[in-house]
Parts: sequence; C-alpha cells; structure tokens
Amino acid sequence: MLAALVAATSPSAQAQQRLLVITTSPDLKSLVEAVGGDRVEVESLGQPEQNPHSVEIKPGQLVRVKQAAMLVRIGLDHEPWLARLPALTATVVDASRDVPLLQTETPRLRTARKAHTHAYGNTHYWLDPKNAWPITASILAALADLSPADRAAFEARREAFLSRLEERLAAWEGVLAPYRGARVVVVHDSWSYFAERFGLRIVAAAEPNPGVPPSPGELAALLDRLRGSDVRVLISDPHSDPSLVRQIADKGGVRPVTLLPSGRDYIGLFEENVQRLSQALKSGQ
Ligand SMILES: [Zn+2]
Repeated sequence: MLAALVAATSPSAQAQQRLLVITTSPDLKSLVEAVGGDRVEVESLGQPEQNPHSVEIKPGQLVRVKQAAMLVRIGLDHEPWLARLPALTATVVDASRDVPLLQTETPRLRTARKAHTHAYGNTHYWLDPKNAWPITASILAALADLSPADRAAFEARREAFLSRLEERLAAWEGVLAPYRGARVVVVHDSWSYFAERFGLRIVAAAEPNPGVPPSPGELAALLDRLRGSDVRVLISDPHSDPSLVRQIADKGGVRPVTLLPSGRDYIGLFEENVQRLSQALKSGQ
C-alpha cells in the first residue's frame, strides 16, 4: 500500500498528468499558468528580452511543440516566424480572438508571412491589463476542453488571478493619474494599449511603419516636431536600436525610458513598467 501511495504521488506520475502547453511569449506563459496552475507545464518559445517578432525556434523547442497538447499565440501578424513550424497536432489558441483591437483601420501593406507590420491591427494588446480578461477566457475554454474534470479548478484560479489583477490595476492607475494626458513619443508602436489604459497620448512613433527603421528624412521630421514641443519622454523597447534612441533623446530633447513589453510574470511586468514610467514622467516635468 505504501508503495502504491508513493507511486501515485511521485513527481513522474504528476508530470505525466500535466498538460504540456507551448506559448509564443512569456506573458502568455504567465497567463496560462495563472489559469492552469499545477495541471499545466508551460514553456515559452520567445524570451522576455527577445524581439517577439523575430524568434528563432531551436531544435529542442521544436520537439516540445510536437509533444504539446496546446499552443497559445498572440495571433494576427505578431509571430511571422510561426509560419516556419510544421503542421501541428496541438490545439492552437489565438489569444487575440475576443480582444477589442486598436488600429485595425490603419491602412498597411499586408505581408503577414514576411514582416510584423500591424497589418491587421496593433498586436501588442496584452499591455492593457484589462485584456487579460478575454485572453484568460480563451485559455480557460481551451484547457477545459482538454481536461473537462478540471474546469471548476481552472475557473476558480482564473477568478482569483483576475481579482488580484483588478486590485493592482487600480493601484497602477493611481500612480499614473497625475500624468494623465502626458504626451510621449515611442520607438515601436508597442505601447498603444498601455497608453490607452493609463491615459498617455502617443504623438508619434519613430518607426512610421512598425518594424521598419525611419529613413533619414522621417527621422529629421520627427526631431523637428519634438524640438520645442511639450513631449518630454521617449519610450523605447529593450531591443530598440540604441543609436536611434540616443539620437532622438539628444536632438529631440526627450528623456528616454525603456519599458518592458514582455515579462515572466504578468503582474510583475506592470509593476515594473508603471514604476519606470512614473519616474521618467516625474523627472521630465
Ligand atoms: Zn509591433
């Protein structure tokens, strides 16, 4: 009897029962774990410090993708590199399905398989914490389909996570409240959803076409616009071109701040960004 008990609770028995879920980003990994808890084992193909639009899939990761029960992606043209994966047997969850998208009307060249250009709308929607509601709803539905006996547990975990997020969101809105209406410039248009939630006004993106560096003429026009304006802060991403950031900061008279578009812990990501941004806006006043 003791042997049976040991066997039933051994780590390998538990690991066998877990659903292997692959996500394209660490943020989605964090959200799948928030809902799935110890019933899931989650691995992300992209890492927080990587440019999410150009991830190289390693052979070891490819093996895991083939073993996975579920793959969760941002969708639209966010992951052009996913087109290189072979046909999958896993359930594919497009997390954008029920998210209200921004900039769907912006006319852009649709080259979905070659580049990330926001051709179907802005894809950086997880940066509005409120979008965790529809994203986790899609994750919950897919997990409960794969493991119906766990539906109630998944629902309870999601509720607990969202109420914690709701509480933190109110705190973040409080921290950024003094800066509502502040005008900022961004390098890549990663921050539209975040700006919308926290009341920032993005006056320009240094990349007029997402993913494409500005031409010398476009850069000169941007610097002209910034000089003498009330724009004080430049938001860049960790993978932004440092010399471009330096030029805009120096010649445009704006304070650069690097915000994190991606993180291992969804709530921690906002804690960090709200802190960095409030510091920059405070010093920029
Ligand atoms: Zn983008």
